Amino acid sequence: MTTKGQIWRIYGIRHAVNESRTRGNNFILEADPTAPLTLDFYSWVLIGDGRAIVVDTGMDPAKAAKHGHTHLLSPVEGLAALGVDAATADTVILTHAHYDHLGFLDAFPAAHFHMQAEEMAYVTGPWMEKPWFRRAYEPDEIVRLVHLLHDGRLTLHGREAEIADGVSVHWVGGHCAGQEIVRVRTERGFVVLASDALHYYEEYERGVPFAVLFNASEMIAAHDVIRSLADGDDHVLPAHDPRIAELYPLAEGLGMKHILRLDVAPERGGAS
Ligand SMILES: [Zn+2]
Repeated sequence: MTTKGQIWRIYGIRHAVNESRTRGNNFILEADPTAPLTLDFYSWVLIGDGRAIVVDTGMDPAKAAKHGHTHLLSPVEGLAALGVDAATADTVILTHAHYDHLGFLDAFPAAHFHMQAEEMAYVTGPWMEKPWFRRAYEPDEIVRLVHLLHDGRLTLHGREAEIADGVSVHWVGGHCAGQEIVRVRTERGFVVLASDALHYYEEYERGVPFAVLFNASEMIAAHDVIRSLADGDDHVLPAHDPRIAELYPLAEGLGMKHILRLDVAPERGGAS
């Protein structure tokens, strides 16, 4: 399916992995809590007509080590392999402010950043008094966001915004107060980068929340928002599912095993 307007390619950079996670770490009231379930970590870049939009900036390797994850590839190196120079990149979308989505901010000195206003209020507000809600945030990363805001380099959106022709962001909340998803026009229709609105396809298929969350009802309601914005369930991309690497091909011609092409059709149907 094609639709009129700018068409974008989507690349996923698998920058870290945690192979010691269990189903009990990932799902609430899990029937088989000790069964292993790997957590992959992705950031993304949209490329179209000579323009690139970076979606999330990965994870500082020191933060990966602190939280028990294995760092695989600097997103900055991954972008360079795709012909995108972080030093001159002009647009970065931050889907939320968890530490695994906004590392390397200093590597983007020319960029303007976009995030949900509710996320900024959340990470600097009273919910951060509670360890449960602040555990996936790192204060030095939040300070960087405050500096970007005061430098005029961070736009805080209200719920929905068009970032470019064919690229829009949509608030869903749930996982954190300001979680957003990104809708991207591709050659085969609109694909939704769900970011952490879905960690695994399984959440979407079973209608269950991920175990790290701010608001369970918003997290479940996000599934319907994703369905309404994507041109089919095989047009939906979770942020942390090892199935992604089974379903999608490596980016062509790079010879790099952690960079995937995600706007093409998945091999075996994506979400079912
Ligand atoms: Zn995440």
